[in-house]
Amino acid sequence: MKVVYFPYSIILDNLVIGSTEGIKMTVFSKITQMGHEQVLFCSDETTGLKAIIAIHDTTLGPALGGCRMWDYDSEEEALEDVLRLSKGMTYKAAISGLNLGGGKAVIIGDPKKLKNEAFFRAFGRFVDSLNGRYITAEDVNIRVSDIEAAALETQYVSGVTNKAGGSGDPSPITAWGTFHGIRAAVKFKLGKDSLKGVKVAVQGCGSVGGSLVGYLAHEGAEIYVADLNEKRLKELSEEYGAKIVALNEVHKLDVDVFAPCALGGFINDETIPEIKAPIIAGAANNQLLDEKKHSEELMKRDILIAPDYVINAGGLMNVYQELVGYNREHVMSKATKIYDTLISIFEVSKEKGISPIESANELAESRIKSIQNLKGLRNNLNNQLWFNS
Ligand code: NAD
Repeated sequence: MKVVYFPYSIILDNLVIGSTEGIKMTVFSKITQMGHEQVLFCSDETTGLKAIIAIHDTTLGPALGGCRMWDYDSEEEALEDVLRLSKGMTYKAAISGLNLGGGKAVIIGDPKKLKNEAFFRAFGRFVDSLNGRYITAEDVNIRVSDIEAAALETQYVSGVTNKAGGSGDPSPITAWGTFHGIRAAVKFKLGKDSLKGVKVAVQGCGSVGGSLVGYLAHEGAEIYVADLNEKRLKELSEEYGAKIVALNEVHKLDVDVFAPCALGGFINDETIPEIKAPIIAGAANNQLLDEKKHSEELMKRDILIAPDYVINAGGLMNVYQELVGYNREHVMSKATKIYDTLISIFEVSKEKGISPIESANELAESRIKSIQNLKGLRNNLNNQLWFNS
C-alpha cells in the first residue's frame, strides 16, 4: 500500500494536469487556486485500488463527502472531478449550517470489474490514515455494502444501513428538501404559495427524482417525467398520473419549473436557449457546465435557478445527523428550511443584481470566514495566556 500526501510530502510542481486560458497548471497551482488543504493519492497493487481523496476546507469541521467510482478517461480527469466535487461540499455544508468541511473521494476504474470486499477494505484503510479529517459515504457507483466493507477498517464512514446503526438511503430527504426548494422558487418567481396546477418537468426519476414526483403529486402539481428507465416511468405515470415525455424534449417544455435530477453539466450553451421554463430547480449536482458563464446567461434570460448545492443539501443533512445522533423528524424539519434559505438567497441576488449562485457563494463564504476569524481569536487568546504565564 502506498500513500502520497499532498501538499506535505512530495513536490509535484512538474506534473502538468491541465490548462486554463492557455496557462499550463501543475497540481500545486491547481489546488492553491481552488483553495484545497490536502490531497491524498492512494494506490494498492494487491487489490488494484487507485483512489484520490481531496480535503478542501476543514474550517467548520471534518470534511465529509461521498466516494464516487468511475472509469475515468485519464488520471487528470479524476483529479479535476475530485477537486471540483470536494469544493462543492465545503459550500454545501457551510450554507446548510452544518459543522462540516468539504471533502470527496474518487476511485478510478470499472466498478463491474474491480469491486470486492478487500478492495473497499483497502480504501477504508486510506480513509482511516487521515484520522477523521475526512469522512466517507456513498456517491455514484458506490453502494451501502461497499461503505460497510470500508467500515471494517475505519470508523470514519457515514451512510450505512439502519441495521448497522446508520440512517439508510438519504435520497428521500434530498427529495424532500428539493421539493421545498421548488416551492421557494415558485413563490419568489411566480408569487404562488401552492404548487397546485404548477407544471413541473422532472429530468431523471431515480432515487431522488422518483421521490420528488411523489411529493409534487401530493401537492397537486402537473408533472412531466423523462428517464432512460421506461419501467420506472410507467410506474410513476400509473401511480401519480405523471406524463411521460421524450429524453430530448423534457427541458424544452413550456412548463413553470424544469427540475434536473439526473446528471451534471446539463445547463450549457446548447440547452439554455431551448429552456422555456422561468425556473430551474432540481437535485442534480453541478448543473451548470460553466458556473459563472451559464449563471450570467440565465440571468440575462430572466430564468431563476436554485443553486444546486443549496436545494439538494437534504442528503448531507441526513448523513450529518447520523454522526451526531439520528433523529428523522429533526432532519426533515432542517430540510424544510431549504425554503427559507433559498428565499434569502433570491432576495439578496435581486437586491444586488447578482446571480443566485453568486449570492449563495457569498453566504457560504461569509460563514466560513466568520468561523475562521473566531479560530484566530481563540489562537490569539491562547497565545495571550501563554505569554502571561
Ligand atoms: P439515480 O442514479 O438513482 O437516478 C438518476 C436517474 O437519472 C436514473 O433513473 C437514470 O436512468 C436517469 N438518467 C440518467 N441520464 C439521464 C438522461 N440523460 N435523461 C434523463 N434521465 C437520465 O441518482 P440519484 O441518487 O437520484 O441522484 C440524482 C442526482 O441528484 C445526481 O446528480 C446526484 O449527484 C444528485 N444528488 C443526489 C443525492 C442523493 O441523496 N441521492 C444528494 C444530492 C445530490
